[in-house]
Amino acid sequence: MTAIQEKTAFEHLFLSNYESSLKNYESQMTYAMNCVKRIMMSQNPYSGMTPLDVKKELDQHFPVFHPKMNQNQQAVFEKLTDITSNTIHVSHPLTAAHLHCPPMIPGLAAEAVISGLNQSMDSWDQSGAATMVEQYVMNGLCGMFQLPDGDGVMTSGGTQSNLMGLLLARERAALKFWGWNIKKQGLPKELHRLKILCSEAAHFSVQQAASILGLGEDSVVLVKADEKYRMCMEDLAACLYNLKENGELPFALIGTAGTTDFGSIDPLEEMSSLAKDYDLWFHADAAYGGGLVLTDTHKHKLAGLEKADSITVDFHKMFYQPISCGAFLVKNRESFSFIRHHADYLNPIEDEEDDIPNLVFKSIQTTRRFDALKPFLSFQLVGKEEWAEMIDHTLLLAQETFELLKKEREFSVYHQPELSTVVFRYMGTGILTHEKLNQLNYQIREILLKNGEVIIARTKVDGDACLKFTFLNPLTKMAEVKKIIRRMKEIGEDETRRLQYEQT
Ligand SMILES: *Cc1c(COP(=O)(O)O)cnc(C)c1O
Repeated sequence: MTAIQEKTAFEHLFLSNYESSLKNYESQMTYAMNCVKRIMMSQNPYSGMTPLDVKKELDQHFPVFHPKMNQNQQAVFEKLTDITSNTIHVSHPLTAAHLHCPPMIPGLAAEAVISGLNQSMDSWDQSGAATMVEQYVMNGLCGMFQLPDGDGVMTSGGTQSNLMGLLLARERAALKFWGWNIKKQGLPKELHRLKILCSEAAHFSVQQAASILGLGEDSVVLVKADEKYRMCMEDLAACLYNLKENGELPFALIGTAGTTDFGSIDPLEEMSSLAKDYDLWFHADAAYGGGLVLTDTHKHKLAGLEKADSITVDFHKMFYQPISCGAFLVKNRESFSFIRHHADYLNPIEDEEDDIPNLVFKSIQTTRRFDALKPFLSFQLVGKEEWAEMIDHTLLLAQETFELLKKEREFSVYHQPELSTVVFRYMGTGILTHEKLNQLNYQIREILLKNGEVIIARTKVDGDACLKFTFLNPLTKMAEVKKIIRRMKEIGEDETRRLQYEQT
């Protein structure tokens, strides 16, 4: 074995106080920024490149994983810029498909700090001040959502937060019904009797969580949604009655504040009082609608949220933070004790006695990013009024789009928007069959994407193929929406002619 070299060949690859390190850091970060800037210069939200063409491009320009030492940085970043110029321009005003926000610049600056410092949030001795910043953000969030005894933890997003809500609810239910500790003893025989209630418009991650938690998707009872796509309280009462009659054990009720398709908000206040009557864990999925808390105009729509036992908030939706950035809140901070684990190497009991904060006990992750810095910095740099204006703008845009589409005879709109989505269907001139119309609606979206012109979403409502706008970009204006509508009509007419020809 040779002796360890004093001066290694790797110093430029890692951050340190070597000049070569700092120079290389600055140079690669600059290339990276220029790569992002290139997308900002593009006219369209997408290049239109097909998956196959992207693969070909990769094979051609990146033929091996690690070729040889001393690659020409500039050349590699140029190739990277070429390939990433075929990603979706999420900050483009004509990108309006998913609950996928344009990231705000303070969040991006925070990302650079997060990755450079590379803190891990599981223990104090891996994070120092970062732990306190996360706790500070969680306390602030509990304040915003009126949870004086609450606490929270950052998550990867709504899916993980919903899983955590149901996890706590399941632990509590097993203890309550059978004095059974699932964390220690595993799943009890009677587990299949436990039932979760949510509306049929709730997010699919509820079923996913039920399956991960060993309850199975069949444990989720879908309560009917009313004509505004909110949970129907009569049907909820009927479902609860039937479950009890059948000897089943409802234990969790999920209210959605902002359903993914319609942005509808369940009657949270009424649900919370029913949850109390039936001793159910009330989890509120505010992944989408949680952002309303920043406004004065729409905040009242979240009334009742503060009564939830746990809440899902997504910072990477209406809070405009780069992915991933979510939070999970509980009304009673003691609730986290259901999942508390102690590892001698990480968060020994002694640390707790010495008031050393190790956030790992609140999470189902161990190594965890310092994502809290993104909302932290954004809340420092962007005023509440500015924030409220941005959200108000997108909600208003949805209202005006709804009014506009209602007047267009080629379109049918499915709901008056509560938040910033609009679900509608191209109806054309009424000569196509239901089946062909379904096909046509999906085609409109696909053609717009293939041309790279506009990015909108699709969904299905009672068998009708629909199109959907999700407005999250404060820079999108009505003029752009009008342009999209005009293009949809043009494509609709062209394709109708083609389909009609097929039909005859
Ligand atoms: C987006 C969304 C989720 C999932 O959140 P992710 O951050 O994508 O994991 C859950 N529920 C609702 C209502 C959502 O809109």
